[in-house]
Amino acid sequence: MNINIVNTFTSELPADSNLGNSRRQVTEAVFSYANPKKPKAPKVMHVSQEMAFELNISEEETTSEFFKNIFTGNEVYPKTKPFSMCYGGHQFGNWAGQLGDGRAINLFEVEHQNKNWKVQLKGAGDTPYSRTADGLAVLRSSIREYLCSEAMYHLGVPTTRALSLSLSGDDVLRDILYDGNPAYEKGAIVSRISPSFLRFGNYEIFTARKDVENLKSLVDYTIKHHFSHLGEPSKKNYINFFAAISERTLEMIIHWQRVGFVHGVMNTDNMSILGLTIDFGPYGWLEGFDFGWTPNTTDRVHKRYRYGNQPNIGLWNLYQLANAIYPIIQEVEPLETILEKYKNDFEEKSLQMMKSKLGLFTSDKNDVELIQNLEDNLQLVETDMTIFFRNLSRFTNKKGSLQLIEKAFYDFNAVAKEVKNKWAFWFLNYEIRLQQEEISSEERKQKMDAVNPKYVLRNYMSQLAIDAADEGDYSLIDELFNLLKKPYTEQSENEKWFAKRPEWARDKVGCSMLSCSS
Ligand code: AMP
Ligand code: MG
Repeated sequence: MNINIVNTFTSELPADSNLGNSRRQVTEAVFSYANPKKPKAPKVMHVSQEMAFELNISEEETTSEFFKNIFTGNEVYPKTKPFSMCYGGHQFGNWAGQLGDGRAINLFEVEHQNKNWKVQLKGAGDTPYSRTADGLAVLRSSIREYLCSEAMYHLGVPTTRALSLSLSGDDVLRDILYDGNPAYEKGAIVSRISPSFLRFGNYEIFTARKDVENLKSLVDYTIKHHFSHLGEPSKKNYINFFAAISERTLEMIIHWQRVGFVHGVMNTDNMSILGLTIDFGPYGWLEGFDFGWTPNTTDRVHKRYRYGNQPNIGLWNLYQLANAIYPIIQEVEPLETILEKYKNDFEEKSLQMMKSKLGLFTSDKNDVELIQNLEDNLQLVETDMTIFFRNLSRFTNKKGSLQLIEKAFYDFNAVAKEVKNKWAFWFLNYEIRLQQEEISSEERKQKMDAVNPKYVLRNYMSQLAIDAADEGDYSLIDELFNLLKKPYTEQSENEKWFAKRPEWARDKVGCSMLSCSS
């Protein structure tokens, strides 16, 4: 394996001088050196060849012992020094103090084709930031992160990525439902890849500790390596830096809304500074369209991170980031202006996004109302979001429109007449509205199919792959992985995945309810 290792992060940023692995508060440092734990019997289950290619690792190399050893933490790559990052975060609205990479260990940076990638193992053992936990990850959460991060990439959603999914051979104790019934599960390790794993919390921790010097070092590093188009670090550019993060964060969340992805734990330690989807934990995909839905059982009561609230939480998190970088800016007004802009941009971009899902490219004063009415209708009875929007592209006129979406209703026969009437009325308005459009139905269909995925990683699909993998059968991981490489393309052999969640999955743990236990 001949990868081009570089070292910007650890050579340019302050390291923790303590080289031990004891759990501790780490101050005046961006990271601590930490070695992965040797797995008992590592076994690679799946590799993303697209990602391997990006790193200049050939398909043949991904089958080697060396690859397995490096990407499960069994061996440290020559002349590299793995490390974990220090960060804090606001969890569910409250400052939680130091968190850090409790089970993530960065291996190295790879530069290839003018791109710089950080390579990280998740679930490779404890670090100074592991607090009371073990630093490990289980098979189910690792399969979910692996499949979903690559699926998001192919959906065109900004995201961190994954290179490999492996079993560690170790047993890991978890109490999935936090009900006092812990059980052993198979341990697993995902190697995940991103231009950066920096989070809002990496900046917040310094400000919380009044360490402006290191805050500035980290912001300067981030601008130099990730926002270099802004120019040299200066007060003006710190403001532009914040504006750029705000834009990227909004952009990412609009994509989530478009595809029906609910992150589930939008704490500030899970917000990437590059506006990438990061930390796939108790996330979920909307089945029935429902602004109030959250997959995360920990969030069941307040539903802070529900689908419809993601844009607001993005803004709330940006407020925390604004507070975090304020010490190097010392002016409130420009930051407030940017946060205000987020609100306006959200309205605008959200409208554009919804219009694109409906195939509307001209403007009409009633568009907001048309969309509002659609969203209301979608929530009258359980209506599958993915199927509804995908099939809508076949709409030509209101005749037969209900049949067009019949497949999206969970129980078509039970749909009340008055609901059907509301739909008929909406379709009538939609048909009238479409007459203003200047493109043919065929062209509209093509454009709609490019933004309304046919296949998403429904929660029950992951669960099927998890159950099979637990029995040693990894074929479904591969099948879903390949399916989701072309989420917008009709795949006749895969029509079975264009289907509503089966009833058995409705209330099953892992399918509609996810806990943070991972
Ligand atoms: P999360 O909610 O998964 O984003 O995790 C919040 C914090 O808990 C992060 O600092 C994680 O590194 C840490 N954490 C979660 N699970 C574990 C684990 N099994 N061992 C050590 N740290 C963990
Ligand atoms: Mg996290």
